[in-house]
Amino acid sequence: MMQQYEQAKAACGDAILLFRMGDFYELFHDDARLASQRLGLTLTSRDKGANPIPMAGFPHHQLDGYLARLIQQGFRVAVCEQVEDPATARGLVRREVTRVVSPGTITDHELLDPRESNFLLAIVESRECRLSNKANSAEPATLGLAWIDISTGAFQACQTTPAAFEDLLARLSPSEVLLTENSSFEPPQSNRAPLVTRQAEWASSEKHALDLLTRHFGIASLDGLGFEPDCRLAIRAAGAILQYLTENQPAVLDFVDHLTPFLQETTMGIDEATWRSLEITRTIRHNRREGSLFDVIDRTVTSMGSRQLGEWLSRPLTCLDSIDQRLDAVEELTGHSDTRAAVRKSLKNIHDVQRLLARVATGRSTPRDLSSIARTLAELPGLRKLVGALASCLAVQMHADLDLCEPLRERLESTLRDDCPLSAREGGFVVAGCNRELDELRELARGGKQWIARYQTKIAADTGISTLKVGFNKVFGYYVEVTHQHRDKLPDHFIRKQTLKNAERFITPELKEYEERVVSAEQGAVELEYRIFCELRDAVSVMLPRLKGNARVVAQLDALAAMAELAVAERYIRPRMVADPVTHIEEGRHPVLDVTQPLGSFVPNSTSLDEESGVIHLITGPNMAGKSTYIRQAALIVLMAHAGSFVPAKSSTIGITDRLFARVGASDELSRGQSTFMVEMTETARILNTATPRSLVILDEIGRGTSTYDGVSLAWAIVEYLHDRVGCRTLFATHYHELTQLAETLPRLANFNVAVKEWNDEIVFLHKITPGAADRSYGIHVARLAGVPGWVNRRASTILEQLEGKRPSRPELRSAARGGGEIQLTLFDAPPHPLIEKIRRLDTNHVTPMHALELLQRWRDELDDGDELVPERATSSTSQET
Ligand code: ADP
Repeated sequence: MMQQYEQAKAACGDAILLFRMGDFYELFHDDARLASQRLGLTLTSRDKGANPIPMAGFPHHQLDGYLARLIQQGFRVAVCEQVEDPATARGLVRREVTRVVSPGTITDHELLDPRESNFLLAIVESRECRLSNKANSAEPATLGLAWIDISTGAFQACQTTPAAFEDLLARLSPSEVLLTENSSFEPPQSNRAPLVTRQAEWASSEKHALDLLTRHFGIASLDGLGFEPDCRLAIRAAGAILQYLTENQPAVLDFVDHLTPFLQETTMGIDEATWRSLEITRTIRHNRREGSLFDVIDRTVTSMGSRQLGEWLSRPLTCLDSIDQRLDAVEELTGHSDTRAAVRKSLKNIHDVQRLLARVATGRSTPRDLSSIARTLAELPGLRKLVGALASCLAVQMHADLDLCEPLRERLESTLRDDCPLSAREGGFVVAGCNRELDELRELARGGKQWIARYQTKIAADTGISTLKVGFNKVFGYYVEVTHQHRDKLPDHFIRKQTLKNAERFITPELKEYEERVVSAEQGAVELEYRIFCELRDAVSVMLPRLKGNARVVAQLDALAAMAELAVAERYIRPRMVADPVTHIEEGRHPVLDVTQPLGSFVPNSTSLDEESGVIHLITGPNMAGKSTYIRQAALIVLMAHAGSFVPAKSSTIGITDRLFARVGASDELSRGQSTFMVEMTETARILNTATPRSLVILDEIGRGTSTYDGVSLAWAIVEYLHDRVGCRTLFATHYHELTQLAETLPRLANFNVAVKEWNDEIVFLHKITPGAADRSYGIHVARLAGVPGWVNRRASTILEQLEGKRPSRPELRSAARGGGEIQLTLFDAPPHPLIEKIRRLDTNHVTPMHALELLQRWRDELDDGDELVPERATSSTSQET
C-alpha cells in the first residue's frame, strides 16, 4: 500500500496528498508534519519499528472542511480515492488521484465566496513581450490570456498589450495564475496574491492548444468561436487552461461548453491602481468589502445577481448603444415598482444554480442540490410572465431566453421530497408512490419493524420483565436488553451478546430472522434510491446548457432590478450618455458617503469638464476639506454610468470614456511595503504613457511622496504634460497652491477650491467646490483640530511665517515654468559664494584694466578648479525637510 502511496505522491507534484484508507484520509511524511501544524491533526506514525513513517489523518466525512482550510492557506491538494469497492476487490484496493484542488479549480460551495467570481488565469507571453511600466497602449499585443470560473463554467480568452494586461489582471483578480516554466511574470504582492502554477512549455504550444480545443468543443476549426484570425496567443492560453483541467479536475471539463473571445476595446480600461484607489470592491485601508462602492450599491437578492453586478462594474462598457440598452431596462424597472417588487420576491426563492450545476457536472451533487434546482425551475414560469410585461430590449431578450424546462422540473418535483438530505447514499429522499419497487422494499422494512415492536411487547409479557427493550446498533443489529437484575428470567434461547454496566444484551433466532428481512429491505431501498438519484442527475446533466442559459438570465434580471431598486431608494437619475469627451455632473454625490453619512449631511457638488469650462480642473483647499471625496465622486459616477447604472446626481451628461485612471499620492499607500514614492511615480508614469484624449484622470495629491519642491515641480510638469500632450479630462486635487498659477499659462485649465470659512481663528469646512484658487493650505488649523498640542501649533505658525518670507516668488516660478527653465530652490538661503565676497571687496576705482583682466582669469580658473570653493548647500531632500 505504501508503494501505491508513493506512486500517487510522485504523480501529483507539489500537492499535498490526502490518501483514502477505509473511512479515513491519511497523510504521510512531510505532508503529515505539515497537516499537524496547519490543521492541528495529531501526528502519529505507521510502522513503529526501525523506520517509523510520520502519519496524520481525519475521518472521510470531514474532507470538505480540511480541504477548505488547506486551500485557504494557499496549498494545492490532491485527493486519492479508493476506486474499487473494498468489499468486492481482490487483494489491495485500487486507488487513484481523482482531483487536484487548487484555489483556481474549486467548485465546492464551502470554499467559494457566493458574491465573487473565482478565476483561474493562464498567461502566455510571446517572445517579444516586455512586461514593464513603460508599457505603451500603442504596443502590439504580445500576451495571450485565458480565464475560467470553474464554478460557473465561464471561459474567455483574448490577447492584449502589456499596458492593458494590468487592467485585466486587476479586474479578474484571479485566485490562481497559470504560467509557462520560463515566464518572467511576477504577480503583484498583496494580501490577495494568486497562487502561481507553472506548466511545461508544450502545454501551451499552438499545435497542442488547437488540438485540445477542437477536440474538446467537437469543432473542426476555431473560426466559429468568433476569434480574430491572428489570435494564436489567446488560443494558446485557452489550451493551457484545458490542459491543466484535464490533468487536475477532469470531471469539470463537461461543464466547459464554450469559449468566448473577450473584446477589450468594448470595455473601459481600469488598471489595478485605479481599482484600488477608487475602492470599488475593497477599501484601501482595511481591504474589506464593507465600505466599498460595490458593497453599498449591491442590492441584488441572489448570489448569481451579485456576481453579475460585480462583473458589470468591473467591466464597464464603452459602446453607447449597449450602455443605453442597460439604462433602458433599469429605467423601465424603476417605473414599474410592482413588477420590480414581484420579480425580486420571486428571485429570493432561487438558488445559486450556476454553482449547483458545476457540482452536477463534476458528479458531486447531492439530492438537496437537485431539489434546489427543481425549486428554481418552479419560479421560472412566474418570472417569465413578469418579464413578459416589460418592453425594454433586454427584457424582451430575457423573456425569450428563459427556458422553463418543464419536463425536467416535473420529473424532479415528482421524485424528490421537499426536505432532501445532503447525502445520496443513505436514502430517504425519494417520495412515496414514485417507484413501485421502492415502495415495496420500504413496506417490507416497515413490516419487519412493526413485527419487532410487537415482539418486544410479546416477550415482555412472556417473561414478566416490563423494562425489557428491543434496541438496534450497527455492530450487533437488533438485540433485547434487560437489566442485570432480570437476566436470569430469560429463557435459554436468548443468547448473550454484550454486557454493559447496568444491563445485558441478548439476541434470539427469530429476532435475527426479522432483522435480516428489515436490513436487506432497507439496503435494497437505499441502493435503489441511489440509482434513482444517479438517473435524475444524468437527466439534469443533459440539460446543462439550457439550465446555464436560465441562470444567466436570472443573474442579469437580478442585477438590473437591483440597479433599479438602488436608483429609487437613493434618488439616482439616469445619466445621458454621449459620444463627446465631456463630463457634466450637476449636484453629484459620492455614492458611498452619501449613504454612510447621516441623511442630508452630504454636500452635493457639480463638475463640468469640457472645452468651455476647462478640461483640467485643479482643486486646491486645506486637508480634510473634501477634495478627494469630490474627485472620486466624479470618477465613481462616470464608472457607474458606463456599467449601465443610474447615478447619484441631479442630472448628468457623460461622454464615453475609454480609460479611467485614479491615483492617490504616496503617503496613503504605506502598507504596500515598496518605496512609496517609487510606486506613486510608477503609477503616474502609466497614466502619462497610456491615457488618451477620451480618458478621465483623477489625481489626488500626486507629488506628495517627495520633498516639497520636488513634489511641486513634478506635479507642475505632470499637469502641463496632461494639458499639452494628452488633453484628457483631468481632476487634480492638491494642497500645493503654487500650482494654481498654471491657470495663467494653460488655457484649458481651471482652478477650483473647496470653500472654508474662518471664524474666531478656527476654520469650518463647507465641503463646497467653488471656482478660483485657494490661497492657503490651513495645515496648522487642521493640526489644531486633530488635537496637536498648542505649543507645536504656535511654533509651527512662527516657522511658517519665516518660511513664507523665503519662498521663491510667484513670478520666479512662473518664469521658470514658461521658459521650461530649471528652478533651483533651497529651503534656506545658501551662504554666498566666496567669489562674490571677493568681487564685493574689489575697489573698481583703483584697478587697472590689465589687473581686472588678470583677476577675471584667476577667478575663472578657481571656478574651473572646482568644489572646494563651493560652499555646502542645503539641497538634499532630507535637509530641506529639516
Ligand atoms: P481632502 O481630500 O481635502 O483632505 P477628504 O475628501 O478626504 O478631504 O474629506 C475629508 C472628510 O470630509 C471626509 O471623510 C468626509 O467625512 C467629509 N466630506 C468630504 N466631502 C464632503 C461633502 N461633500 N459633504 C459632506 N462631508 C464631506
